[in-house]
Amino acid sequence: MAAAATFLRPSPRAALAGAWLSVWLFGAAAPATADPLPVFEVAPGVFVHAGRHEETDATNGGDIANCGFVVGDGAVAVIDSGGSPTIGHRLREAIRAHTDRPIRYVVNTHMHPDHALGNAAFLSDRPDFVAHVRFQAALAARMDHYRQAFDSAVGAPAAEVRLVPPTLVVTDRLELDLGGRVLDLVAWPVAHTDNDLTVLDRQTKTLWAGDLLFMERAPAIDGSVLGWLRTLDALAATPAARVVPGHGPPSAPWPDAATDLRRYLSRVVEGVRKVQAAHGTIQQAVDTVAADEAPRWRLFDSYNPRNVTATFAELEWE
Ligand SMILES: [Zn+2]
Repeated sequence: MAAAATFLRPSPRAALAGAWLSVWLFGAAAPATADPLPVFEVAPGVFVHAGRHEETDATNGGDIANCGFVVGDGAVAVIDSGGSPTIGHRLREAIRAHTDRPIRYVVNTHMHPDHALGNAAFLSDRPDFVAHVRFQAALAARMDHYRQAFDSAVGAPAAEVRLVPPTLVVTDRLELDLGGRVLDLVAWPVAHTDNDLTVLDRQTKTLWAGDLLFMERAPAIDGSVLGWLRTLDALAATPAARVVPGHGPPSAPWPDAATDLRRYLSRVVEGVRKVQAAHGTIQQAVDTVAADEAPRWRLFDSYNPRNVTATFAELEWE
């Protein structure tokens, strides 16, 4: 499939990855019809579905992260595809309720399953699947774990669902032209994960931050807490009027929307440094660090201990 993308730099910063390698994964077969996901039009032509602040289970079927699409004069870009093939199909139905323009791109902001497992629902559109250059390796390393976790959470038998790897990867920056509308993609250094990608719709100044921005739901540090704080500094300079977080309200003011996340991550770093300076243990850090943040975040008890543990390991090597 030809990429209609133009590159910001003279030398190509993106390249075609192995096309259409199909790796079977998990989930249910495509439903014949699906209820469209409810979406908000947060700016003209920019539609967002707000996922629930829950862990994936049989009731929500993986509908726990924000996803959506941008409509140009000639094409549609999906930005994150939902946490299961079924959610992907429902997102596709929502697109078809608003436009019959072709779906040319499916962009994944990173490899976490709640953002990427809906990709298979778009195979029949033959879009380019667009992701960070490190997306595929990161997902491959976790695939068995994600499959087991999904099967036990949702209780769905593994069927003929494929994980579709990127056909267009971003190592630095990339423009996607939807016809009269350009999306600016940026691949970031290690932060929330090692494969975070953001999308800015130039026309409406809407920034899709993926999980570089959590609101309301406790964040998960799966890359580098120090890298994440640095990335938030750099991202704050993005000339956006509003942001779509990976988790949280479908639209929020930028960069103010990152205030809570920045405070939480900073507290984790400061707290862990204090425990380490006193030669304390990981368990002491887990029991105390950022404890006063608990009332501010949903699912705090599920994520804060892991975040403190990850940060302890990261800062040990400073
Ligand atoms: Zn994530």
